[in-house]
Amino acid sequence: MKNLWCWRCKIEVPMLDQEEYKVASKLYRNGFETGKCNMTRKTRFKDLLDYYKDLTGFEETNPNAIMHHRIDLYGAACENCSKPYRTPKASFCAACGNKKKANNCTESLHKEKPKWWQKLLVLNKAGSN
Ligand SMILES: [Zn+2]
Ligand SMILES: [Zn+2]
Repeated sequence: MKNLWCWRCKIEVPMLDQEEYKVASKLYRNGFETGKCNMTRKTRFKDLLDYYKDLTGFEETNPNAIMHHRIDLYGAACENCSKPYRTPKASFCAACGNKKKANNCTESLHKEKPKWWQKLLVLNKAGSN
């Protein structure tokens, strides 16, 4: 468990690591399998909510929120502002714009140059108005 900034909730929340998440997802599934339609979400996923509270001390009421509070979904902490990168593959920080240090990421290196003829397309468009 680690307190991390959640990009969806826009607050810092306790996020689960792999092992913790495994348990959480099992409880989540149990909620679906054993719950009844007339149960409130809170009753249905009580085990999950209790588990999360035991683990983190955070009283979450929305089981879906717990399922996206998972360290794996986000990138490492930004070197500049320490918020996590929005995804593990993000190339820059969405919070402060800090560029992630290049680590054998080939994607940005192979950005194609615009073709010479693409200029013509732009000119044509402008002229046709
Ligand atoms: Zn969240
Ligand atoms: Zn940042």
